[in-house]
Amino acid sequence: MSYDWASLNFAYRDVNCHIRYVWKNGKWDNGLLVKEPFLNVHIGATCLHYGQDAFEGLKVYRTADNKIRSFRPLENARRLNRSAARSCMAEVPEEMFMDALRRVVKANEEFVPPYGTGATMYVRPLLIGTGPQIGVNAADEYTFIIMVMPVGAYYKGGLQPVRALVIEDFDRAAPNGTGTVKMGGNYGAALLPHKIAHDKGFPIDLYLDPVQHKYIDEFGTSNFIAIDGKGAYVTPLSHSVLPSVTNKSLQQLAKHLGMTVEVRPIEFTELPSFQEIGSCGTAVVITPVNEIVRGDQVIKVGPREGAGPVLQNLYDHYTALQWGKEEDPFGWMVEL
Ligand SMILES: *Cc1c(COP(=O)(O)O)cnc(C)c1O
Repeated sequence: MSYDWASLNFAYRDVNCHIRYVWKNGKWDNGLLVKEPFLNVHIGATCLHYGQDAFEGLKVYRTADNKIRSFRPLENARRLNRSAARSCMAEVPEEMFMDALRRVVKANEEFVPPYGTGATMYVRPLLIGTGPQIGVNAADEYTFIIMVMPVGAYYKGGLQPVRALVIEDFDRAAPNGTGTVKMGGNYGAALLPHKIAHDKGFPIDLYLDPVQHKYIDEFGTSNFIAIDGKGAYVTPLSHSVLPSVTNKSLQQLAKHLGMTVEVRPIEFTELPSFQEIGSCGTAVVITPVNEIVRGDQVIKVGPREGAGPVLQNLYDHYTALQWGKEEDPFGWMVEL
């Protein structure tokens, strides 16, 4: 492959093939590698009409020892199955998920960027109802796909802080709705508030709890994390936040490094007391957030440039572990 790996952005790119499985008559087939990036879908498919659609996102790395490894893929398999259960879709057995991942990565091996470029292979599993229904019912056929593509390092230099806008007129998810599962529809509903924030000059948007708008929930596509006045790692406890694998892993790493970790309701009014705030997710790991705007109120936290020392330290250890530059005491990196 003759990519300029280091300058790839986070965008769709054609590769050799994706892998596709179909569930029919109560069972999954053996899966096929498919070259064309198109699906021939029934016009009555439930994914199109009724949102039977869940997805995942994870990464594959060519590590320092030139092996191909994926970061905690079973976490994504399990979360996909929680999404499947929430929308009455056929679940994907963990062994099938892992087998699909191995096969599709192997078939696209030349698109796993070389070690040292900062680029990775982004992996996007997708589960959709493909059987037709006109009454509101679960489909009798499902399709499971994994597509892959090379993506560049998000930060070409050091970590760059961003400003976030608090969304007041919309909620990302209802209390006890689908905020805790990774369903496509959550994103459809978040596009307009995201556009409004973006048009006002804010790269990311922050949602409050949908009941009272009193507590912090999460950013539009990533979890909220902060370092409080005592140096503890704090992150919201909420009924409408998506459980991020990155957040879960950063919590484990923080504890391993001797930090206190608190998962608790966080009031919006606490924000000024924090030393550092970040957004976390697979694509970027940590984005420092140094300004949060809610109406006329402007809250500034952490340094103007770069990340604060605690989030920077977590980021450095986390990414060193992923690249195989530091040992992986948790067994998170799975050789494919
Ligand atoms: C996917 C997602 C995240 C990040 O989860 P990771 O597993 O860390 O990538 C955070 N919030 C929402 C709403 C998401 O959909």
